[in-house]
Amino acid sequence: MAPQTNNHRGAWLQGPSANCEPPVKLENPFRLVLLGAPGVGKGTQADLLHQKLQACHLSTGDVFRAASKGDCALSPAMKAATDHMRSGNLVPDGIVWEMVRERSGCLHCCGGFILDGFPRTLAQAHLLKTLMTSENLALTAVVNYELPVNEIVARLSGRRTCTECKTVFHVTERPPKREGVCDRCGSKLFQREDDRPESIKVRLEVSNRSTAPLIAFYQDLGLLVTVEARGTPEEICERTVAGLENRRAAHSH
Ligand code: AMP
Repeated sequence: MAPQTNNHRGAWLQGPSANCEPPVKLENPFRLVLLGAPGVGKGTQADLLHQKLQACHLSTGDVFRAASKGDCALSPAMKAATDHMRSGNLVPDGIVWEMVRERSGCLHCCGGFILDGFPRTLAQAHLLKTLMTSENLALTAVVNYELPVNEIVARLSGRRTCTECKTVFHVTERPPKREGVCDRCGSKLFQREDDRPESIKVRLEVSNRSTAPLIAFYQDLGLLVTVEARGTPEEICERTVAGLENRRAAHSH
């Protein structure tokens, strides 16, 4: 599989009036949803899978972050969405849905897509299914990343972020050259409030409660591919691609 260089995601991040450079047209593109608790590395995997499979990385969190950073005027719905996000809550289903529906052209991307952070509720999963059926599209698979709770806590509680350039380090897995100082820009590193062990446990409980019904939903549809999220990002990515290829081979007969 040839790596793809284009990753503009213009139409996804800025809305359907923006253009993307079309990727190479694939005969059988991957159309994926990624599930997994915070800390399993879904965003990293989405980027690596994008390079391997060409599929476009569609993160709903990225759209809300881009909206909250941008200088352009926001629609009232997008303004409400960014307020919910900043307060640490989920954005209500109706607003998320409006945002995704506006960008439904991205689901037709000729390189395929990787949805990261959506669907997050059962209602969103039902809406996605209805939309894809009406657009004559089908998901290839839903990847569920699994990691024991104690390993997620170790991963997240060791994370340190640069106060200025936001580069992420890890006290044992990716330590900075000088403790507490960013290798890239020399600014101080800090630990996010929600990366402290007490907060992580709460986040994991909330996430498990909302993800469990999604896992059951996609399991019933026969789409679930479970991947162990242990090892380096590259190892996890290889395991994911192997799981997807096995599934494809099993369903092509
Ligand atoms: P993420 O980067 O996926 O963790 O998303 C960051 C924030 O964006 C979340 O904490 C929510 O406030 C909001 N968000 C992103 N995707 C969704 C979604 N599918 N449903 C509700 N809120 C979302």
